[in-house]
Amino acid sequence: MIEVKDVHKSFNDNEVIKGVSLSLNEGEVVTILGPSGSGKTTFLRCLNFLEIADSGSITINDQKVTFGEASVDEVLQLRRKMGMVFQNYALFLNKTAKQNIMEPMILVHGYSQQQAEERAETLLQAIGLPEHGNYYPSQLSGGQKQRIGIARALAVHPTVLLFDEPTAALDPELVGEVLKVMKAVKAAGVAMIVVTHEMQFAYEVSDRVIFMADGVIVEEGSPQQIFEHPKESRTQAFLDRFT
Ligand code: ATP
Repeated sequence: MIEVKDVHKSFNDNEVIKGVSLSLNEGEVVTILGPSGSGKTTFLRCLNFLEIADSGSITINDQKVTFGEASVDEVLQLRRKMGMVFQNYALFLNKTAKQNIMEPMILVHGYSQQQAEERAETLLQAIGLPEHGNYYPSQLSGGQKQRIGIARALAVHPTVLLFDEPTAALDPELVGEVLKVMKAVKAAGVAMIVVTHEMQFAYEVSDRVIFMADGVIVEEGSPQQIFEHPKESRTQAFLDRFT
């Protein structure tokens, strides 16, 4: 359903992504682990065209886009099938929680004001913030802001959600509420690619774990395989740091 093939990306002479491929079935959750600087964020940003990959392709359902060759229209069409959740939430500070959720529905996906409002209210309920629609981001905790970020990404029924270290900026006591919402997203059958340092989440929720280092996939497998029986010494060394 989602097929990413042979992505390469350099910044000047520094090749950061060196031929990464990945495929994902409907509703599957894949987490990407790896040391700082291994290219996880860059890879995710390439998938969503926030960075322009040098080569490779991404196919979602029946639409294939080859990086560097596709028209703007093709890219926009593909992007409509994805949602992204950022480490720093990326909410509009001058808009309320509800307006933040409604914005892409109206501007990118052509929902009417009323349709967008109804969907936003359903999502606010689902993320446990039914009373917070009129709050501005400055009036919300980090965990609440991130839950709004997830609701916004989910609002337009994406085929796949991309998460870039969604809990990394949170105080430890707020991490749980965000992970709970992410588990609910999985239960709703939305495919997810999650860059994270939350080992417990990766272990419990992923269908597959990818360990990335130096711009390549070193190893991938089920959470049990990767956490309990890693084959590669680099994977083992990375995991040892968390025990
Ligand atoms: P972390 O876990 O610390 O977030 P990461 O695995 O996500 O790390 P990236 O942020 O993708 O790693 O960075 C990979 C490499 O690409 C790093 O060496 C980084 O300095 C470099 N890099 C990322 N973005 C840019 C940019 N816009 N310009 C130049 N170099 C960049």
